[in-house]
Amino acid sequence: MEKQIHTVGERVEKFCAICQEERGHVVASVTKRGQISRVSCPKCGTRSTFKSSTSAAQQGLRAKTGAPYDPKLTYRTGQSMLHPSFGQGEVTAVIEPQKIDVLFADRLRRLIHARAQS
Ligand SMILES: [Zn+2]
Repeated sequence: MEKQIHTVGERVEKFCAICQEERGHVVASVTKRGQISRVSCPKCGTRSTFKSSTSAAQQGLRAKTGAPYDPKLTYRTGQSMLHPSFGQGEVTAVIEPQKIDVLFADRLRRLIHARAQS
């Protein structure tokens, strides 16, 4: 299984953090050894890294899940977070120095970030 060679355009099952569903993803890039490195979701278009080994998958899942949302942190586009009410989200745009658009499973929400500590 681990030694399987993959090619770009192939379909792989992966859980999409944006769609909140397991679905067939399209392989977007592979390593020289034929291992899948990036896949894209055909529904939402989100590209994510794909790790084949178990330990790396767990680490990848951890990184993908993101840290809990903290308004004091400064977020960047593409960063993932876990909001206590809205769940898993990904920053789609930095609107103003202290406002970000975050795509959650249900819809896009505007959140505060980089809030100055008083
Ligand atoms: Zn998706």
